[in-house]
Amino acid sequence: MKSLRQLYKIGVGPSSSHTMGPVKAAERFLSEHGCCDSYVVTLMGSLAMTGKGHGTDVAVKRAFGHRPVKVVFDKQTKCVVHPNTMELAGYNGKTEVARMQVFSIGGGDILVAGESYAEGEDVYPQGSFEEIKLFCRANNLRYCQYALQCEGEELLEYMRQIWRVMQQCVKDGLVAEGVLPGGLNVQRRAKKLLSELNDASRHTTRDRILAAYAFATGEQNASGGTVVTAPTCGSSGVVPAVLMYAKQQQAFSDEEICRALLTAGIVGNVVKTNASVSGAECGCQAEIGTATAMAAAALAELYGMTLDEIEYSAEVALEHQLGLTCDPVGGLVQIPCIERNAVGAMRAVNAASLATFLADSRKISFDTVVKAMYETGRDISDKYRETAVGGLAKVYK
Ligand code: SF4
Repeated sequence: MKSLRQLYKIGVGPSSSHTMGPVKAAERFLSEHGCCDSYVVTLMGSLAMTGKGHGTDVAVKRAFGHRPVKVVFDKQTKCVVHPNTMELAGYNGKTEVARMQVFSIGGGDILVAGESYAEGEDVYPQGSFEEIKLFCRANNLRYCQYALQCEGEELLEYMRQIWRVMQQCVKDGLVAEGVLPGGLNVQRRAKKLLSELNDASRHTTRDRILAAYAFATGEQNASGGTVVTAPTCGSSGVVPAVLMYAKQQQAFSDEEICRALLTAGIVGNVVKTNASVSGAECGCQAEIGTATAMAAAALAELYGMTLDEIEYSAEVALEHQLGLTCDPVGGLVQIPCIERNAVGAMRAVNAASLATFLADSRKISFDTVVKAMYETGRDISDKYRETAVGGLAKVYK
């Protein structure tokens, strides 16, 4: 498994696979072919179907800067290798002098055709959750300590930075007002959710706070704000919402929360390594489902739960989102995405709670549910994998 630095990335929304990945592809291409007269970038598959709504063309053009570049949305060509495929070509006059095929594989990572996925070294010797748990048990480690043992104590400083950005994003989202860009006329709601807290009956208070925090990040992401992929931009609101809530309600320190982020990172990394965190590849179960599992594990870490209970928290959080489709209305990361972050945050709290009294009798391991999620995702029709032609994206008028 790669470093947690590869999982938690600071970047600009609204989409890790549709903006961060393509920008990285453009930068990679320009680093090798920066002196052409002109360029053509062809977006295919999900990148073509929802690239407009996600702002892929705008992000790619920005990455090319002053260079002349044309962005083409090719909705016809079938993507046989990966649903997020792009081709970058450079021209001198009318002659093509360079071409590169790149796959945006999720969470802002890219894979260049013909290369193996080499972004960053493998720093974790164990590849499955079971192996990690057995190693931790044998060495009397918690998952967060295991992460530090594999990556070095300096990883904590990186997590402090990640936590600062997450908190700032929530704070910014809680004061922002107005309508989100894109034409759906979606009103920002985070500030209102929190300001109406006093009117809420006691039993809805927790959910209202969690929703406000999740909406804050989701709305910042939708408007092109700075977010942390956890594990993606579209699902970036779940983990911060749960951790902000835990910090404020139970006075956990920032240091404790950074360690919880490490535990969440191990969970996210297992999914990213053995399955996918890409909505275009496996539907929303891979994005919000994984984010919910990460948040549940983080909370379980904060509560000092056992290794088994942490695993169960993550497992139950993902298991009950199996089959969740990706059907963003208008190809924008707004409906159902923003609200889905709030639902994910609430489910994460419930999952950690269930783990305190059900972990002993469980039958399904986290690795099993990750495998099921991947197989389910590959079986889902591509109408429900970030193409915006099925589900809500189709029936919402
Ligand atoms: S529906 Fe889920 S996977 Fe699809 S864009 Fe929205 S958050 Fe991402």
